Amino acid sequence: MANRPFIVGNWKMNGTRAMLAEARAIDRGAARHPGVRVAVAPPFTLIQAMADNAETMAIGGQDCHAAASGAFTGDVAAAMLADAGAGFVILGHSERRAMHAETDAAIKAKAEAALAAGLEVIVCVGETEAQRDAGQAEAIVCAQLDGSLPSGEGVAARVAVAYEPVWAIGTGRVPSVSDIGAIHRAIRARLEAIYGNEGAAVSILYGGSVNAANAAELLAADEVGGALVGGASLQAESFLAIVLAAAGPGEE
Ligand code: PEP
Repeated sequence: MANRPFIVGNWKMNGTRAMLAEARAIDRGAARHPGVRVAVAPPFTLIQAMADNAETMAIGGQDCHAAASGAFTGDVAAAMLADAGAGFVILGHSERRAMHAETDAAIKAKAEAALAAGLEVIVCVGETEAQRDAGQAEAIVCAQLDGSLPSGEGVAARVAVAYEPVWAIGTGRVPSVSDIGAIHRAIRARLEAIYGNEGAAVSILYGGSVNAANAAELLAADEVGGALVGGASLQAESFLAIVLAAAGPGEE
């Protein structure tokens, strides 16, 4: 059976307890669309409160450390996320790759730690604008997959990939549907090379300026199994419009 479309909100460094009402509204809305898998990754500080109240949506972290514990001031271990109620963690977001110098190897180590702690992982990949202009998008994305995906028997069932062109994040610019389809097909081929048959079932999300107006078109691109949504996930109204687009015709 095909996976349900997976719509994930990445709140980044946004949100205090004042946002819990918005989270409850997203959760109530998600319950109206059982055909869509809805998840939100708030800042660490809101994970427990959101997880305690969520009935339908999954709650996740935006990063974790590869080590289980120790002298890592400011970091959070995967088991701590799980203990707070998280079910998944986003890893290798381009903002972390760029601002925290995260390498593919570091992301892979984090992913393996997260899986060991019982979390699902969403591994982000994507090219910069200069790399796209140089015709390197597919090669960059495949190299990131090779370097940052977790290894191991049976892990693919707990892995999703988010393709997020760096130049499309928070800019209002999106690739064409055919360019998205081309990269997603290349990602699928790489997943099958890495994980064998299990790679065929890994969800591949598109991320980068997804909003209520463009979601239906982007979600219909080849091999797009959902969306990773930043800015538009901060309000229930705009996020639920994307969930509705994923639910497809006939739902409201
Ligand atoms: C993101 O940061 O993962 C993202 C896709 O952001 P936005 O939707 O705001 O472009």
